[in-house]
Amino acid sequence: MNKLGVHALVWVGGWSHKECETAVSKSAELGFDYIEIPALDPSSVDTKHTLKQLEKYEIGATVSLGLPLDCDISSEDPEVVARGEAMLNDALRLTGEIGATHMCGILYSGFAKYMQPKTERGVQNSAEVLFRIAEKAKLENIAIGLEVVNRYETNLLNTGAEGVEMVKRVGSDNVYVHLDSYHMHIEESGLGNAIRGCADHLGYFHIGESHRGYLGSGNIDFQDIFSALAEIAYSGPITFESFSSAVVAPQLSNILGIWRNLWEDSEDLARHAKTYMEEQIKAGIETHRDNRFRA
Ligand code: MN
Repeated sequence: MNKLGVHALVWVGGWSHKECETAVSKSAELGFDYIEIPALDPSSVDTKHTLKQLEKYEIGATVSLGLPLDCDISSEDPEVVARGEAMLNDALRLTGEIGATHMCGILYSGFAKYMQPKTERGVQNSAEVLFRIAEKAKLENIAIGLEVVNRYETNLLNTGAEGVEMVKRVGSDNVYVHLDSYHMHIEESGLGNAIRGCADHLGYFHIGESHRGYLGSGNIDFQDIFSALAEIAYSGPITFESFSSAVVAPQLSNILGIWRNLWEDSEDLARHAKTYMEEQIKAGIETHRDNRFRA
């Protein structure tokens, strides 16, 4: 069974001591296995306090971030690349200090709408930095997830196939493709096909609706997704990600374009998502079993 997690922004917009305890305790209360903590600004996370809360409520953690453009490791400017590597090292230190199992997100480029395509030199710079980060992460048993996102949030990895290519290029065995149903719905030619194309390279998954609200209330064919996850025997973490103007983290919410209020009751949203994901996982396994018997 996959471990199920919830993104912290379902609960809180910041990471003060009080916000941390709220998010960690609520996630644990609903039975999630872990919480995904955004670290766009690694210095905003008090790692000692966070670890204490995770231990108190007996729940795991993962860390996600995207690089600002002045720290873009896919830049051709060595100074920008060096700043990005320093930021990733900082985030990796944080990940280790709170005992998190995964560091994921848009680690390979800026988290922004680019006004030009990626360049070969830039992709190579990104792969070289990621290799060094991944080798350090390996020493602490931390997996690295490269989140494939839509064209308005990066110019580097927009499809699962591009993700697999990048994972191979980086060349560390703890680097995985991180898929997100919200982004896949925009960019892929078929949700299940994208998952099957990643196969063993898939190591992290975000479940989000087409409008980022309640699961099942948008346009995404979750049956296709969970059936394909069962087919490739995906056993990694699955995180529920949802955003509403009711809970705002100014930096993250504004890049994502969270302008609408899609929910106000975090607890109702998260409880529904957990049940929904559990039912879809079960249905996916059964669908796949049925297909296998027919084949
Ligand atoms: Mn995501």
